[in-house]
Amino acid sequence: MSIQSNLQHIKSTLPSDVTLVAVSKTKPVSDLTEAYEAGQRIFGENKVQEMTEKWQQMPKDIQWHMIGHVQTNKVKYMVPFVKLIHGVDSFKLLKEIDRQGKRYRKTINCLLQVYIAEEETKFGLNETEIDEILNSEEFKDFQNIRIVGLMGMATFTENQEQIKKEFQHLKQIFDKYKEFSAFNFQLSILSMGMSGDYELAIECGSNMVRIGSSIFGERN
Ligand SMILES: *Cc1c(COP(=O)(O)O)cnc(C)c1O
Repeated sequence: MSIQSNLQHIKSTLPSDVTLVAVSKTKPVSDLTEAYEAGQRIFGENKVQEMTEKWQQMPKDIQWHMIGHVQTNKVKYMVPFVKLIHGVDSFKLLKEIDRQGKRYRKTINCLLQVYIAEEETKFGLNETEIDEILNSEEFKDFQNIRIVGLMGMATFTENQEQIKKEFQHLKQIFDKYKEFSAFNFQLSILSMGMSGDYELAIECGSNMVRIGSSIFGERN
């Protein structure tokens, strides 16, 4: 199957209010170009350097989403062009994004990554940590970030019931924080679902899916 036909197939199954992020990490620019020519404009990468190199080479109407864990010292490289940072999982990172946003006179859209899996390895915040961020005095002064949604990853398991429970849990957290509103915090995006579980994620309320291997093929 070609990238173009994979994309067309996936898009035909997505409800109109669900945004598709084509996860192109590890894939060559030629593959991204094929997706671009098929109409795809939103790409997700998980390494700042790789995303920056691809941004330099690709057409400038692409929206670049950072979906991976970000080290604070790398933030400055993507702030000039990144459209959405999905994996904000610490106050320290948020603070650095705000600081770099100021430097570049930009407001950076962010999702807070919420920990919903049973695995020890997944990054993310719990509700207590989100509350701490929202209630901190420093957060109220962050002028150059906008928290526009939440992102989460389910446990890597075949157990559909477990995945469903985790997605439902994240949706519940999303609905709770949707009630809270500040100039730099207003949730509308719920980023959950990947190649293996995006249909379930959408059933559970996702409106942004991050799909890689089902578009570009398996990664090495
Ligand atoms: C790699 C990755 C994806 C895409 O995974 P696929 O299973 O290839 O669709 C989605 N989200 C994150 C955070 C990723 O790192």
